[in-house]
Amino acid sequence: MKTFDLLNITKEVIAMANWKCQKCGYTLEADAPPEKCPSCKEKCEFLDNTCYTPDCQGDGVDKRIK
Ligand SMILES: [Zn+2]
Repeated sequence: MKTFDLLNITKEVIAMANWKCQKCGYTLEADAPPEKCPSCKEKCEFLDNTCYTPDCQGDGVDKRIK
């Protein structure tokens, strides 16, 4: 049962990433960055600021990436 739970968690982490608009700072969780920023309504550059390390537990966003 524990192995099954672990697989589910791993799958979720791989599928979802946190994206941050470099223009307005809008963040969203998705498997891929959106074509248009929902906040800017423009084609913005999205930075993957997903936290992949265990030292920033919580919301899963790497606070070191601004
Ligand atoms: Zn934006």
